[in-house]
This record gives sequence, C-alpha cells and structure tokens, in this order.
Amino acid sequence: MYREFGNNPKVIENYTLLQQIGVFREIDNHKKRISELEQLLKQATDIFSKTNLESLLDYVIDCISDNFIPGKLIFILQDRNARPRFYGYKNLRNHNFNIELSSLEPFEDFFVKYPRTIHFELFEFQFQRPEITDKLKNFEPEIIVPIVGLNGLYGIILISSKILESHYTDEEIHYIDRLMNFTSISIQNNIHYLSAVTDSKTHLYNHIFFMKRLNEEIESAEEYSLGLGLIVLDIDHFKNFNDNYGHLAGDMVIQRIASALNHTLRRTDVAARFGGEEFTVLLPNTNRQQTWRIAERLRTAISDEIVNYDGHKLSVTASLGCSSVHVLNAVNAEELIRQADTALYESKSNGRNRTTVFRPGLLVSATIIRDVQEV
Ligand code: GH3
Ligand code: MG
Ligand code: MG
Repeated sequence: MYREFGNNPKVIENYTLLQQIGVFREIDNHKKRISELEQLLKQATDIFSKTNLESLLDYVIDCISDNFIPGKLIFILQDRNARPRFYGYKNLRNHNFNIELSSLEPFEDFFVKYPRTIHFELFEFQFQRPEITDKLKNFEPEIIVPIVGLNGLYGIILISSKILESHYTDEEIHYIDRLMNFTSISIQNNIHYLSAVTDSKTHLYNHIFFMKRLNEEIESAEEYSLGLGLIVLDIDHFKNFNDNYGHLAGDMVIQRIASALNHTLRRTDVAARFGGEEFTVLLPNTNRQQTWRIAERLRTAISDEIVNYDGHKLSVTASLGCSSVHVLNAVNAEELIRQADTALYESKSNGRNRTTVFRPGLLVSATIIRDVQEV
C-alpha cells in the first residue's frame, strides 16, 4: 500500500512539498506504531496461550525486558486464600525480596477505582497511607501496576528503575499498561481454570479432572510401554471419627491428608479428592512394585499426622488399594479403578490401615468374602 503511494506520479511530482510538510515523517511514525501494535498483538496471543502462572510470568518478564530492563520487578499475586504470593526478579533472574505485606486488601478500593499503571510517587501521594506504602519502599519501586479483573484486584506489580536510563517514558508506561491488561485476563483465566479442576476444601484435583488425566495417562502408558500406577485411598472408620469429634475436626483431617499427599508425591503424580473421604493418586511411569511402595509411604504419612483439635491430639488411618497398567494388564480407566477398589475392599476387610495390590484372582476371593458377608 505504501509502495503504491510512493510510486504514484503525483507524489513524485510533489515530493518536495510533501517532505516539507512532514508527510513522510508522519508515515514513518505510523509504520512504527503499526509494528509496535503487531508486536503487542503477538504478545497478547502468546500470553493467552499460557496455561500456568509460572510460564506466564516468565513470558511477561521476557516481553518487558525486550523493551527495557528494570533493575527489580516483583509480582505480588493473591493466592486462593487471599494471601499474597511474591514472584520477584532481580536483573531478570528469580530473586526473593523481603516485603512484609500480609494482604493486598488495602489496595483493592484504590485500584478498582483507578485500574491504571502509575508512578509510585504519585500513587503514594494519592493513596495517603504511608503505613502501607512504606512497606514497599525497600524495593525502591518506580512504577506500580495493578492487575484488576472480574473479581477485583488479583495482584500488583512493582517495577524499580531501569538499569540503564533513569526514568520510564510515557510510551513505556503505556506499553506496560496494555501488556498488563492482557496479563490480567490470562491470570484470571488461570485462576478460573484452577478452580474448575480442583476441589475447594483440599485444593487437590477433582473427580472430573482426575478421570480426564487417567484416560490420557493410560493412553500414553500404552503408547510408550511405560508403567502406570493407581492408588485409591479411603479413611478408616471416618463416620465414627465425625460422630466423636464433629465435622470440623473431620474437615481438618481431610485437609491434613491432602497436604500429606502433596508432600509425599512427586511433581508428576496426580492426587485427587475423588469423593468425600476418598482420594485417588495417579503415578505415571511407575511399576506395580513401586506403586505399592509409594502407597505404603502414603499410608504411614497419614497415620503419623497428628491434628490438634479442641485440646485433643487426633489421628486417623487409611486403607489403600493399588492397581497398575502393564503389558499383562492393558485395561481402560473404569477397569483400572475397579481393580484398585477391589484391592481397597480387601484392605478394609483384612483389618484396615493397610495396602493391598490388585492381582488377578483377588477379584474372585473378594467376591467370595462379599457373598459370605451378605448371607
Ligand atoms: P470405613 O473404614 O469402612 O471406610 O468406614 P467409614 O466410616 O469411613 O466409611 P463410610 O463410607 O461409611 O463413611 C464415610 C464418612 O465420611 C461419612 C461422611 O460423613 C464422612 N465424610 C465424607 N466427606 C466428608 C467431609 O468432607 N468432611 C467430613 N468431616 N466428613 C466427611
Ligand atoms: Mg468411603
Ligand atoms: Mg471410610
């Protein structure tokens, strides 16, 4: 289009005039603006495609540092318990800053009303709460960026002065502001996605997500001939426990078990709250023997937990059942769960607080036990 314009005989004829009145300079400015907007559009697309917070933040840091390098930068984001979590960077590397801020709540009203990137000094002046802004001063912020979305304030970003030149230009602030609009939406999407796939009491994955992952993992275990372990875990005599100590104490136990699972398992394992007091664990790339060992580790971790409640020191035990996908047991998700359930049933009927691994033939003996009990 510009070439067409440049080749137009009338333009060539009036070249000097057009140059004098600055038409070409204006065109160059527009071209620069377009290329900046194209870059921003690409960055927005990339930002929306990030499915976890860490990779999103890493990407945003990259975008910012392509334009200028801030000495320090920190994202302060609220976790699901409304506590601030800090993701700091110094000279573009992860860094822990010591900021004593226990909540972002004081910033909420201000930034919901003025959801804009602003100079920290101006913010301080308008906010008028030195007891809070002083806590951020250690960090030497030059600008402060709110991350505001549907549910109010999700977080703030503090950016210190640039490594090279001293001050941020209006254009740079404008760029940060636009980039952060996209980042806020992506953070919201991440938060909403997490709450759709996790259980609110334990923050473990929920039943629906677990089934989806189970199906995917079975497929890849078969494709790459890897082992895959499944553990089903059920708290023992939990009804009695609730009857004796109340539901609140029971809830604390459930939360404690969830954190014991998180601490004991590897990052690649998937733990879920399958139902009320029943948990499932998926162990990719794990054989039958290893699955049993991990299940035993979980069982011990659970029985070792002591919950202090109302002057009592409380503990529970759990029964576990394991099954696994291997060459001789290429089964679908429902069958794999049924096998682990059968093994769990065996653990319960053999006295609880134990682990049973499913083996062919167990199904037969389990059926006999059930029949005998039903008579
Ligand atoms: P068993 O050893 O055979 O598993 O006995 P149990 O009493 O644990 O088994 P049952 O399935 O009969 O009871 C499960 C109990 O778990 C009943 C229910 O009140 C309790 N429960 C389920 N979800 C929750 C929860 O979120 N919080 C609390 N406090 N209790 C729960
Ligand atoms: Mg149960
Ligand atoms: Mg139970």
